[in-house]
Amino acid sequence: MEELYLILGCFGNIDDGFINCRACENRILLINPKLFYYNEILDYLDNCGLFDKAIFDLNAIRNIIRVMQDKFEQVKKRLWHEKEYKKFDKFIQVHRDCGLYLKLELNKQISENSIIEEKTVPIINKEPEFQKPNLPFIRGRR
Ligand SMILES: [Zn+2]
Repeated sequence: MEELYLILGCFGNIDDGFINCRACENRILLINPKLFYYNEILDYLDNCGLFDKAIFDLNAIRNIIRVMQDKFEQVKKRLWHEKEYKKFDKFIQVHRDCGLYLKLELNKQISENSIIEEKTVPIINKEPEFQKPNLPFIRGRR
């Protein structure tokens, strides 16, 4: 079964040959039917446009994560542990000069990529690979 990941990443930042960051990506949420508010979460991400493209605006990214944390409370706990949630905020602050993105990716794509080889170092200011997954398929199936 295909699973969907919400991914927070940055483009990297090289200042005159000095490497501040080589670009990194974190899967911050596995979105599957076991989640409480699964359908609502899909609806929300769809409304944010994430089923069509990645989001690059820092404030929008921050806002989406905050709304999700506040809105989609799980049984007796929040969507993300507070500690985890704070990490996202820190990541956004530390990597804001790299340029940030939030995107959705199918689990299958990630594992296919990781089997082949480690990702090469991305070139600064290069758009991240954004293969448009067949997300409407997942959306239509619920
Ligand atoms: Zn970075």
